[in-house]
Amino acid sequence: MSSQRVRPEILDFKPYVPGLSEEEIKERYGLKQVVKLASNENPLGASPLAREAVARAAGRMFRYPQNHSPRLAAAIAKAMGIAEAHIVAGNGSDEVIDLLFRVLAQPGKDNVVCYEHCFSMYGLTARLCGVEYREVPRGEDYRLPLESLAEAVDANTKMVFVTSPDNPTGLAAKAEELQVLSGVLPEGALLVVDEAYMDFSWPPEEYSMLAFVPELKNVAVLRTFSKAYGLAGLRLGYGALPLWLAEHVRRARPPFTVNLLAEEAALAVLEDDAFYSETLSVVFKGRELFLKRLPELGCQAWPSQANFVMFRPPYPADQVCEELLKRGVIVRHLKSFGLPENIRVSVGAQAENEAFLKALEEILHG
Ligand SMILES: *Cc1c(COP(=O)(O)O)cnc(C)c1O
Repeated sequence: MSSQRVRPEILDFKPYVPGLSEEEIKERYGLKQVVKLASNENPLGASPLAREAVARAAGRMFRYPQNHSPRLAAAIAKAMGIAEAHIVAGNGSDEVIDLLFRVLAQPGKDNVVCYEHCFSMYGLTARLCGVEYREVPRGEDYRLPLESLAEAVDANTKMVFVTSPDNPTGLAAKAEELQVLSGVLPEGALLVVDEAYMDFSWPPEEYSMLAFVPELKNVAVLRTFSKAYGLAGLRLGYGALPLWLAEHVRRARPPFTVNLLAEEAALAVLEDDAFYSETLSVVFKGRELFLKRLPELGCQAWPSQANFVMFRPPYPADQVCEELLKRGVIVRHLKSFGLPENIRVSVGAQAENEAFLKALEEILHG
């Protein structure tokens, strides 16, 4: 019987719920074209420099990549203004999250603290690792509950997770507030700030904790190439970790998880300033458009520091999502985040944003 062979955590494990794919929707509704605004991917697609770099490197795919991707770590460190020894790259920031759990938290003994309606990978990884997952309620209007996070911590807390800018609300915590939180955590608890969307916050210096990693020693920052850098399909993220931790993570990690093409693409896209600034410009414009138009259409919309906007339509969100799908527009219903009244829409290219707004107008006022 499999129920006797498999760990009890696995028997009732609820898998990660990804955004719907273009292929699924085309097939289900017989559509030729769809607009995918469900996974916060880059609105410009892939950087031309990254594409060329991948094409040039393709002939070397029979070789193993260099372990720990030192060229990449050096390039990231230089771009972010932090010493290379802090940087640990992974197969998406998902892998870095997994490594942090496995290096820091003892199964059956330790716990981690998060807030409700947050990115599901923290809780899923905790469960898979046999680590207690504590969730504190959010503040009013989904505010990030930094004080309650501190109160939920005890001597066995190994990590406190804050996503900033937050997924799915788009709210961000100020770096000042996060410094205060790091200052009140007991020794032994690491503040992990997931900055997957930090590129889209403005001004980033007011929000990012990256510059504090070297001095604070109990703060880790996670970043990804999946969003602003347009490499979601290649899987690449990194942690900027305190030195004492980076060293242990590098020793414990499996070899070669960052693949050769991802490394080449990242090295190229880090040099593609035009792609990066055009990405920000398209996201800022589209975000502004959504925040203006959604309320005009009768939706409540939350201000966002990310490349998506959370909103609540005046009719049930599941029905609105279904109607959008029939019109070829994929957005993210936030039921899997425990917010069934809300929807998250990624900022796309201008034509995609307009197609979404047109479809929504038809549904709500047609
Ligand atoms: C998209 C996202 C990531 C990035 O994950 P990757 O594994 O690097 O693709 C990390 N954290 C949050 C909160 C995200 O929304």
